[in-house]
Amino acid sequence: MLAAGSVTKIVVVNHETAEVFLSNEATEKYKTQERFRNIPAAGNGAQFRFTIGSVDLFAEQVAAANAEFSQDVPLDFRNDKNGIGTMLLNFLPWLVLIGFWFFMMRGMSGAMGGGGGLGGGMMGVGRAKAQVFDKEKQTKITFKDVAGLEEAKVEIMEIVDFLKKPDKYKELGGKIPKGALLVGPPGTGKTLLAKAVAGEAEVPFLSISGSDFVEMFVGVGASRVRDLFRQAKEKAPCILFIDEIDAIGRARGRQGGMSSNDERENTLNQLLTEMDGFGTNAGVILLAATNRADILDKALMRPGRFDRQIEIGLPELKEREQIFEVHLKPLKLADGLDREFLARQTPGFSGADIANVCNEAALIAARGGKSAVDKEDFLAAIDRIVGGLERRSLVMSAEERRLTAFHEAGHATVSWFLRHADPLIKVTIIPRGRALGASWYLPDERHNTTREQFMDKISSLLGGRVAEEVFFGTSETGALNDLERATKMAYAMVAYFGMSEKIGNMSYFDSGAADVSFTKPFSEKTAQDIDSETKRLLGLAEEAARRVITDHKEGLTTLAERLLERETVFAEDLEDIFGKNMRKEA
Ligand code: ADP
Ligand code: ZN
Repeated sequence: MLAAGSVTKIVVVNHETAEVFLSNEATEKYKTQERFRNIPAAGNGAQFRFTIGSVDLFAEQVAAANAEFSQDVPLDFRNDKNGIGTMLLNFLPWLVLIGFWFFMMRGMSGAMGGGGGLGGGMMGVGRAKAQVFDKEKQTKITFKDVAGLEEAKVEIMEIVDFLKKPDKYKELGGKIPKGALLVGPPGTGKTLLAKAVAGEAEVPFLSISGSDFVEMFVGVGASRVRDLFRQAKEKAPCILFIDEIDAIGRARGRQGGMSSNDERENTLNQLLTEMDGFGTNAGVILLAATNRADILDKALMRPGRFDRQIEIGLPELKEREQIFEVHLKPLKLADGLDREFLARQTPGFSGADIANVCNEAALIAARGGKSAVDKEDFLAAIDRIVGGLERRSLVMSAEERRLTAFHEAGHATVSWFLRHADPLIKVTIIPRGRALGASWYLPDERHNTTREQFMDKISSLLGGRVAEEVFFGTSETGALNDLERATKMAYAMVAYFGMSEKIGNMSYFDSGAADVSFTKPFSEKTAQDIDSETKRLLGLAEEAARRVITDHKEGLTTLAERLLERETVFAEDLEDIFGKNMRKEA
C-alpha cells in the first residue's frame, strides 16, 4: 500500500497495534472488493489494523519504505490504556496477593488458635499449643512402666521428691534444679520417663515439641515460649516437657550470615530468659529431650538452666529383657517363652523397636490363626523389623541365588574364624527390603572397640566380596553396603581413632563441628596419607579374609549349599561344618 501511495498516515496504538489510514480514492477502490466492503470510509477511522512485533523495528521499516518510495507517510503514536479491562489486568495480581494473604491468615489462626474460640483468630498465632495431661485426664504412667534406665531413674527421682515435698528442700536452703536434659537416641523412652516423673509426683504434665515453636511468622516463636511458661506457672507445681529441643536450641551464629535464622535465635533467647526468670522455687520443672546434645547452644547448659544432663542410651541385654517384660504383659503368650532369648535376638533395638516387635508378633500370630503368640512369631517380627518385609516373591535367577549364597557364606566363614569378629547368629539368603541376603551378628555389649576388633570386622565385611572373587572370579553390585561400611570403618580408624602408623595418635574428629564443614582440618599431604593408610588397612583386612576363605574352601561350599537348600542357617550349623568356634577356646 505504501508503494501504491495509498497510505495517508500510520498510528501505533499502545506499542502493539498499527492502524493504517488510507486516502479517499484508495479506500473507495478497496471497498469495491467483496472482502473489504465493510471497512470504514476515509476520515471515519482507520481502514486496517494489524499487530506489530517491535515498535522500533516497525518504525525503521516505515522509514525505509518512505525513503524507497520517496514519500512522507507520518508515523504517529497513541496510548489508550484506560479501558476497564486494562485496569482489571493491572490490579489482578494485587487482588490475588491480598486474597491469598487473607486465606493464609485464616488458615493459620484456625490451626493454631485451636480451641481459642472467638478470642482465637489472628491473636491465636502466638499461643503455645502444649498438650496438658492432668491427673484426671490420663491413665497414669509411673516408673513401673519404664523398664531399665536405672541410673536415669535415680537421678530423676530427686526431682520427683522435690515436687512432692518442696518444703524439705527449701528449709535446708537447697537449690532445686530447674531443668534436666534427657539425651539419647529416638525411641529410648525419654518421653516415657518424663511422663513417669509427672505420674510419680502426681503433678500436671505439659508437653510440647520444639518444632512447634518454629513458624513462618516472625516473632511467633518467642511469644509462644512466653505463653507456654505462663501456662506452666498457672499450673505449678508441674512438669514442662519440651521434646526435640534441638529444633530451637541449636547453637547460635554457627552458620554465620549464610543461613542464620533470626527467628529461631529470638525463640532461643526468649527460652533462656524465661528459664532465668522463673524463680528456683516456682515449682515448674523443665525437662527437655534431644538426641543431639552436641549441637545445642552452650548457654542452655549453664548452671541454673538445664543443670543436669541425663544420658539415656540404647538398652543393654538385661534392660531389653525388662522392656520385653513390660510389653509382653498385654499379650497372650505361648507357654515357656524365653524372654532372655528374645532380648538376645534384639541387639541395638530401642525400647520403641521392642514395643513394635511385640505388637507385630501379635499381629503375625493372629494372621496365622494361633491362639497364643509363640517364639516363631517373635522371630518373624524381629526379622521384619530388622530388614523390612520379606520378599520371598522377588524373582532371583538360580545363578544369582548361588552367588548370594556364596557371598553370605563368605561373611559367615570369615567371621567364624577370626577371633575378634562379632559372633554370628544366623545367615540367610531370603531377600528382605533391598538386601538379597543378610548375616546377623551379636555385637558384644561393649563400649570400646579395639584395633583388632576393627580389623576383623572389616575382614568379615569384605568376606562376601572375596568369596565371589574366589569362587566365581567375578564381583557384583550387591556388596556396595559392605564396602561402604568397611571403608568408613577403616577411615575412622585412621582419621579419628589414631590406629594407623603413618598418621599416629592424632584425631581429626571434631565433636564441635557444625553439620557441614567446608574445610578439612588437615593439609593436602595428610589427606593423601589418610587415603593411603585407609587403603592399606582395607588391603590387610582383605588379605586376612582371603586367607580364611582359601583355607576353608570346602567348608564354605558346604555352607553355601546348605544355605541354598534351607535359606537360613544358624550358628549351630556352622559349628557342625567347621567345628567348634575358635573364639570360644581362645
Ligand atoms: P523417645 O521420647 O525417647 O523418642 P518414647 O518415650 O516416645 O521415646 O518411647 C516410645 C515408646 O517406646 C514408648 O511409648 C514405650 O512404649 C516404648 N519404650 C521406650 N523405652 C522404653 C522403656 N525403657 N520401657 C518401656 N517401654 C519403652
Ligand atoms: Zn555382603
